[in-house]
Amino acid sequence: MQSLVLARNLINIAKNLAEVKQQIQDAETLFKREPGSVFLLAVSKGQSIEKIEQAVLAGQLAFGENHLQEALPKMAAFPDKKLEWHFIGLIQRNKTKKIAEHFDWVHSVTNQHLAKRLSEQHPAHLPPLNICLQVNVSQQANKLGVSINEAPALAEYCAALPHLKLRGLMTIPTPKDTLQEQRAEFAKLVALFQSLNENKFQLDTLSMGMSNDMKAAIAEGSTLVRIGTAIFGIRDL
Ligand SMILES: *Cc1c(COP(=O)(O)O)cnc(C)c1O
Repeated sequence: MQSLVLARNLINIAKNLAEVKQQIQDAETLFKREPGSVFLLAVSKGQSIEKIEQAVLAGQLAFGENHLQEALPKMAAFPDKKLEWHFIGLIQRNKTKKIAEHFDWVHSVTNQHLAKRLSEQHPAHLPPLNICLQVNVSQQANKLGVSINEAPALAEYCAALPHLKLRGLMTIPTPKDTLQEQRAEFAKLVALFQSLNENKFQLDTLSMGMSNDMKAAIAEGSTLVRIGTAIFGIRDL
């Protein structure tokens, strides 16, 4: 136990962040993506305020959380900082108000009902809440997200809501072993993204790629990777 505690304390978040940024740059170069075109969201779910503070000191400003109750005290701990908070988890109906009030982005909009509530409950004096539709590209019954077929209608609906700004699409594919297989999953989201943009939408965000499939996501055109363990280590909250 002793050594485990020690190992956790020894995690060098500034160094991990620098390494992840380097990997993003390398992938941008390798796959001929524009330099700086992939945004890094640090997924701080399950991580302590102390670790977030280390990341902030290293210059990281955008954080992703998936539980409202866990996120609120973290947000409150940085009142003076210009941090950006992204909600990336399952949205419970009774949590939409607080999510709409406290977050800058929601990546996990999966149906009209949630979208309507988020729009109604987002304070009108703030800039619109940035949202992504979470799409179930792997078409698995147990996976969260709107299906590829139903996504265009949901996009249409969300784009018309006054306090939301539809920015793009997000996905969490079923884990695959090889780069090729990972790329094939992300390619489905990219095809949907392109067809929506050919049909009058102006989406600019492809939220795809986590610690284990970031390279494949960047190869396919990700504009935002959501990275947790590669920055903060194993989640311990
Ligand atoms: C936990 C989580 C991540 C980060 O996963 P890591 O494997 O720790 O990088 C990214 N996206 C979502 C939606 C998550 O829930």
